[in-house]
Amino acid sequence: ERLLSPDADDSDKSLEKSLRPRYLAQYIGQDKVKQELSIYIEAAKNREEALDHVLLYGPPGLGKTTMAMVIANEMDVQIRSTSGPAIERPGDLVAILNELEPGDVLFIDEIHRLPRVAEETLYSAMEDYYVDIMVGQGPTAHPVHFPLPPFTLVGATTRAGMLSAPLRDRFGIISHMEYYEEEDLREIVLRSADIFQTEIVEEGAIEVARRSRGTPRIANRLLKRIRDFAQVQSDGVINRAMADQALKLLQVDEAGLDYVDQKLLKTMIELYHGGPIGLSTLAVNIGEERETVEDMYEPYLIQKGFIKRTPRGRVATPLAYEHFNYPYQS
Ligand code: ADP
Repeated sequence: ERLLSPDADDSDKSLEKSLRPRYLAQYIGQDKVKQELSIYIEAAKNREEALDHVLLYGPPGLGKTTMAMVIANEMDVQIRSTSGPAIERPGDLVAILNELEPGDVLFIDEIHRLPRVAEETLYSAMEDYYVDIMVGQGPTAHPVHFPLPPFTLVGATTRAGMLSAPLRDRFGIISHMEYYEEEDLREIVLRSADIFQTEIVEEGAIEVARRSRGTPRIANRLLKRIRDFAQVQSDGVINRAMADQALKLLQVDEAGLDYVDQKLLKTMIELYHGGPIGLSTLAVNIGEERETVEDMYEPYLIQKGFIKRTPRGRVATPLAYEHFNYPYQS
């Protein structure tokens, strides 16, 4: 199991409940998204209307689900959560829509994976707050108009480009979540340590922040593991040396790359002379799905300057060569 996977596993899920910030003021980082949302939220509250539909997109683990919950708390309404793959038929969606109270938030995670027919049901729900339900079968089948209360759809997706245009166009607010700055992650680590009642020194928090792939979920997961190390191997206080030692054992390197990242870069350099190499070939070589490489592994490596996208495929940069002490030949 991949320690640095930004996807949530079961132990993350119980952990995350206690770590989630509840209001905008507690939500660290993503300043641009917060600023925008706070204005729209205030305006909607003043008008006593439901907030416009919000699309949050960006890599997993950056706080999209958390933000959906924060929006509901700030609007002082209930939130109902589901996900694209969980909805198989339009009826599944109608059942959830039917439970909404005026102003409520409906959160749909992985909204790009919503089946087409269910997606089409959403159009009228989003635009004019109604759905047409087909009643009866065969020649007696007819649509019944079913009104809904005003509500806010918050959709989350890893890539906005994966949404169909008609769905994307129905979101009034589209916000891009970015990888976190080290400074913000440091604050998140300190906050989480406080909730865990774990003692951590500043340099320890910085080390965890630096090696968390810009992702709060990973920062929290690493913190949890390092806390165990610190408890067993010393007095329980997390300092820089303790963090470094634990991260080495967990095979997270200086740049915060784990073995999958390393394997990916080494494959490019050793087997393909640094590229260009197609995404599918790369995925096959490291035993992952193409989509997984594109959504989870590659964006961070691109952001950190280890990989470049070119029209002919992915290329390992001189920085990648340097990282593994390979001589660079262009
Ligand atoms: P996503 O939905 O984008 O995959 P989540 O909202 O589930 O990500 O966030 C993962 C975890 O990271 C949350 O449980 C929360 O503890 C933590 N987290 C995310 N964003 C923040 C933040 N801005 N401040 C503090 N903790 C955060």
